[in-house]
Amino acid sequence: MSTAPASRPTRRAAGLGTSVFAEMTELAVRTGAINLGQGFPEDDGPREVLAAAQHALAHGSNQYPPLNGTRPLREAIVRQRLRRHGTRYDPETGVVVTSGATEAVTAAVLGLCAAGDEVLVFDPAYDSYPAAAQLAGARCRRVPLRPGPQGFGYDPDALRAAVTPACRMLLLNTPHNPTGKVFTTDELADIAEVCVRHDLVAVVDEVYEYLVHDGRRHHALAAFEGMADRTLTVSSAGKSYSLTGWKVGWACGPADLVTAVRAVKQYTTYATAAPLQDAVALALDRYEPWTAGLRAVLRSNRDALADCLRAAGTTVLPAEGGYFLQADVAGTDTPDALEYCRALALRARVVAIPTQVFAQRPDPYGSLVRFAFCKSPRTIAEAVARLEGHV
Ligand code: PMP
Ligand code: GLN
Repeated sequence: MSTAPASRPTRRAAGLGTSVFAEMTELAVRTGAINLGQGFPEDDGPREVLAAAQHALAHGSNQYPPLNGTRPLREAIVRQRLRRHGTRYDPETGVVVTSGATEAVTAAVLGLCAAGDEVLVFDPAYDSYPAAAQLAGARCRRVPLRPGPQGFGYDPDALRAAVTPACRMLLLNTPHNPTGKVFTTDELADIAEVCVRHDLVAVVDEVYEYLVHDGRRHHALAAFEGMADRTLTVSSAGKSYSLTGWKVGWACGPADLVTAVRAVKQYTTYATAAPLQDAVALALDRYEPWTAGLRAVLRSNRDALADCLRAAGTTVLPAEGGYFLQADVAGTDTPDALEYCRALALRARVVAIPTQVFAQRPDPYGSLVRFAFCKSPRTIAEAVARLEGHV
């Protein structure tokens, strides 16, 4: 008989097994498929930023940094927010550096939501949001983003109808994963109005803040009327500077909200990788122009993939920002996205993700497939060739 203790995940951890991203990456590695499932770039960020981290490793930046992050990084974050959005944060009390945006979001939910509280999210949602709510004993109330020829939109009445007395927080992601939507100023003003009216805390995940396409602009909810005192803005270096493996993120906001994040962070990771922090500060201060090159590559990848998917009979929705495009496979021989993805992996050896895995229920996402276009142009060209041969 085994002497190992039975594994008994609590209700809070139940069902949080392997993420869809890990699963799809494993499938791609196992089958030799091209991984357009998990959103990570193949080409690393600015050389000088990598060199700054190497220098820090070699020159003694290897012990615990302050819990809330190194002062140079916190100051660079404050400068970046002011420069881009006109929002002001105190580098001592208004910023905390986290181990990726994921930690910032999870710590915010754990630190600010009690068991039984409700969190408003747009559906489909990044997978860590419902997981964070579950860990907190809170519940997500989902407001559908509906696909249409102009992209994804929500019904303002549905947003209002989703608010209950138990709602404590609105968790927004713009530019949005997995839909590629960039929330407009009108939408953000509407969302701000709901937050103010119902006294909600807003947590805004802006990890794709620099990756906005076709002349659109990213706007910060924190800059809207009534929002500065109730918004925690989250971002990270991963997407903006192609450094996803560094896991350096941050949250900025009023002192009470930042304190809640810091309290949780203190007992999860305590601090974030020391030698990477000043390198990220350098990226924020000096390498913003570098992101223009990244956007150009992303756009060209997106368009190549979109053309090929259209030729294969799918309908491609506008990918306004971020790493992902949505293809509707309803008009193909395999109108079910789960089946389509399975067949794609086997026949074309390209892995993509059925969008419904991010949603509470398949409808209206059952025929949508998410393709990551953040890979190198060579990989995208190879994926296109495989899709052309097999779809
Ligand atoms: N938020 C969103 C919307 C994401 O797509 C991702 C993953 N790329 C993250 C957060 C995770 O960010 P990080 O790696 O900085 O934790
Ligand atoms: N954000 C990435 C995606 O959506 C994955 C990050 C992860 O694996 N946690 O594909």
